[in-house]
Amino acid sequence: MRQTIQKVILLVLAGSICLVGCRRLPPKGQFTIDGGYRQVMGTFARVVAVADTEPQGRSAIDAAFEKIDAIEQCMSDYDPNSLLSKVNQQAFRQPVAINDELMTVLCASMECYCLSGGAFDITVGPVVQLWRQAKKNDAAPTPKQLEQARQAVGCQNLFIDTEGQTVQFAKEGMFLDLGGIGKGYAVDRAVEILRTAGLKGGMVDIGGNLRCFGTPANGAEHWLIGLQDPANDENILLKLKMDDRAVATSGDYRRFVVLDGQKHSHIINPATADSAQSLSSVTIIAPTAMAADALSTTVTVLGDQKGLGLIESITDVEAILIPHSEKLSFEKTSAADRYIMAE
Ligand code: ADP
Ligand code: MG
Repeated sequence: MRQTIQKVILLVLAGSICLVGCRRLPPKGQFTIDGGYRQVMGTFARVVAVADTEPQGRSAIDAAFEKIDAIEQCMSDYDPNSLLSKVNQQAFRQPVAINDELMTVLCASMECYCLSGGAFDITVGPVVQLWRQAKKNDAAPTPKQLEQARQAVGCQNLFIDTEGQTVQFAKEGMFLDLGGIGKGYAVDRAVEILRTAGLKGGMVDIGGNLRCFGTPANGAEHWLIGLQDPANDENILLKLKMDDRAVATSGDYRRFVVLDGQKHSHIINPATADSAQSLSSVTIIAPTAMAADALSTTVTVLGDQKGLGLIESITDVEAILIPHSEKLSFEKTSAADRYIMAE
């Protein structure tokens, strides 16, 4: 039991942002129910409900997890029976019919591809696969392998027919990977479920992609989200106060592999087919979790200057970056401070 709990805590910390407690006496007739952590999408998810009654909160939490499971079944590239896998297997030969959910995520991915000048690219799948394999084999892919995989990368070869609701690939070997956006989408849909269930407030976190709304938990004034130190999980560097907002963190300091003395993270720069390396952690605050998720991956690829420039140009979105350096420092967009709690 103890071992299980330790494992859960470790993996949850791998999200690098977390809900932090601030307990007051909640008003009468208001219940905070913490659904705890459940394993989904290769990570852990947590749903918290603020409800009029405990049963209302519990059934909303179960419904939210059901939604997350359904989205995973549709969008996982690990599951050979998912709709995404069907697209990956068949879309070069013929257009493949997709559902509304996958259509929404593909269109948003395309938008982020254009916005980022190609830094965010869900067709990066073949390169991601090579690096995943490299981790297993403990040997870096050869330049020839990388070049070959890169041939199949590029959203310009992805055709999305919004009227016919189909998707098709223009190049053989293309492979979609929604790892940089799918969790955020699932968070948004789970929040929608909580709202529809009539909750006063709630929070959904999938592996560090988090969104909260309405009345904060336990009678607190705001939802408080802790930004963890890349160098030390137990150290909370900043507390973010949020209402009806989403926050996501990407970084290269936890999910990486060292091959031939070189560190490679799981976020790929499509231009080089190697990992993006300039930032230790990227936190994005946005109105939706899907935007926060995709943009945190994007800024990790773009680096601080281009990344901050991009986020400044998007209304209502802020960024907090931690560059690689001996001494801890932050780089922020101009209005990010409004979310940071003064000590
Ligand atoms: P995490 O999965 O740790 O929350 P991210 O949201 O940053 O981190 O997503 C990283 C995942 O996104 C990778 O594991 C891979 O599946 C996918 N990915 C990697 N590079 C890119 C990229 N340039 N554009 C879009 N998706 C990417
Ligand atoms: Mg992301």
